[in-house]
Amino acid sequence: MSSTAGPVQGEGRRVYARLLRHVMPHWRRFALGLAAMVVLGATEPALAAILKPTFDGSFVDKDVGTVALMAMLLVVLFGVRGLCTYASALAMASVSSQVVMDLRRQMFAKLMELPNEAFDATSSGALVSKITYDASQVTEAATQVITVLVRDTVLVAGLLGVMLYHNWKLTLIGLVAAPLVVLVVKHFTHRLRRVSFELQRLMGLATHVVQETLEGQKVVRSFGAQDHVRGRFASTANRLRQFEVKFASAASIISPIAQLVTACGLAVMLYMAARESAADAMTVGTFASFFAAMGLLFAPLKRLTSVNARLQRGIAAATSVFALVDQPSEPDTGTRTLGRARGEVRFEGVSFRYPGAREPALRGVDLAIDPGERLALVGPSGSGKTTLAHLLSRFYHPQHGRVLVDGIDVSAITLRSLREQIALVSQEVVLFEGSVRENIAYGPLAERGEEALWRAVDAGSAREFIERLPQGIDTQVGENAVRLSGGQRQRLAIARAFLKDAPILILDEATSSLDNRSERAIQQALRELSRGRTTLVIAHRLSSIEDADRIVVMEHGRILDSGTHAELLERSTLYASLYRFQSGRAADDSASAQAR
Ligand code: ADP
Ligand code: MG
Repeated sequence: MSSTAGPVQGEGRRVYARLLRHVMPHWRRFALGLAAMVVLGATEPALAAILKPTFDGSFVDKDVGTVALMAMLLVVLFGVRGLCTYASALAMASVSSQVVMDLRRQMFAKLMELPNEAFDATSSGALVSKITYDASQVTEAATQVITVLVRDTVLVAGLLGVMLYHNWKLTLIGLVAAPLVVLVVKHFTHRLRRVSFELQRLMGLATHVVQETLEGQKVVRSFGAQDHVRGRFASTANRLRQFEVKFASAASIISPIAQLVTACGLAVMLYMAARESAADAMTVGTFASFFAAMGLLFAPLKRLTSVNARLQRGIAAATSVFALVDQPSEPDTGTRTLGRARGEVRFEGVSFRYPGAREPALRGVDLAIDPGERLALVGPSGSGKTTLAHLLSRFYHPQHGRVLVDGIDVSAITLRSLREQIALVSQEVVLFEGSVRENIAYGPLAERGEEALWRAVDAGSAREFIERLPQGIDTQVGENAVRLSGGQRQRLAIARAFLKDAPILILDEATSSLDNRSERAIQQALRELSRGRTTLVIAHRLSSIEDADRIVVMEHGRILDSGTHAELLERSTLYASLYRFQSGRAADDSASAQAR
């Protein structure tokens, strides 16, 4: 059988060995399962073997005693086999689910440690499917392949033994005929696989057409493209239908053909057997026992020939799993911890280019922010404002220059301590599955206590709406739960930041998803939040930062100018034009708000 299980080479072998190392801690259960399987593999030939004394006893010798004994043996055999079937299935399921869980936990833990670049480079869908699908596929290689190899090898050997014992000449004929059947079946399965591949592709295409049309249904209608889209779907649906028929045809021809070829071989063997028994060389019991053993041989042979495909599938899945587990974690080289920082922030000649980007996002930025200062960053979209915030939180590392907090290079501070100093409120408020309470007192903040929680809720002016929710602060939010408006989500995020009470605050376009009125209401809470903290306000609406201590104007990754609102209005043409453009639009906004 080496040809079917052999080709695991080099890299594959290493992956497989590593997978088996995950099985090792559970070797007791695994060995129990294997033992049960060996018993299973060994007792099946016995079923064929006891047919001889049974048949000869009843038809030839009329020996009731032997037949009764065999009948009892039959019951015992099935009892033992039932026990072993159950034990082996349970042991293997328990081991493989343990392995899958170990791998899933390892992958999930890794997700928490990956550097930001890794998420830029991989779609979240791909990561999700690694954890859900690939991990479950690994069991193919981890336990099922071994199951098949052990049980079916024992079984095949036993059955061949029974056959050889009864009649070696017939056995040899069978051994010559069997590969013929395999070849014929292989030919047809190959065709089936081709058709099924094409079928899958067409199914994907049809789904894509439907999805695209649903997402763009307004566009489809407003451009009157219904006929065009309908035609496209109709032709895809028709090709799909054609291939479904082809698939059915390819699938249903396999077993009749295989049976026909088998019947031909069987006919030859039956003829030979009949000649032997005419010469009195074969009893009816031998005959029955021999052909029963041969019949039982098909299933394990089939499983053994397909074992390599399963092995490869499992190894491919394991490769994908280990690729994620082996990705380097976010480098956390810092050793210093800060306690509570004063909140002085300095960028010194910072240049940064995102991995794979052509243009640098920051070019030689120098900026010093005093403790407690409220500094606003303005500039056209793409000018590098968010990137500055990313570097301060050490989500990325500058290629040149340094970022310092309280005069210490951020790369010398442990990630945990650095991030404890920074609270971030951004436009995208992410709510996690759970209650409002869990979302505000998120993670380690849960230890801050009830009183602190409600103080934060009040400071974020979130009490009023929270108390009106169906279950108050214990109302479930997140996916498939109470939907909160943009303003309400924003208030939760502000309350969360209040509770964190970090010395450095980053507001990255925190209010840009809100309409003017909610924005004004939230501005007050944000201003409250920034009191006594070093605050980096990234603003899309300049009206909200007119009172900042200092405004920094950025463009193309550079700082163009800085000063107060009044100074910049006079000095910076970019700032003045941004401001004029926006005050014009703000007037439009309030006009349309009144019209509503
Ligand atoms: P701003 O916040 O001022 O709108 P950003 O700091 O987000 O600008 O972006 C600065 C530049 O970096 C832009 O040209 C943007 O396209 C690029 N950029 C931002 N994030 C990434 C990323 N994850 N990978 C590659 N390029 C990015
Ligand atoms: Mg931005």
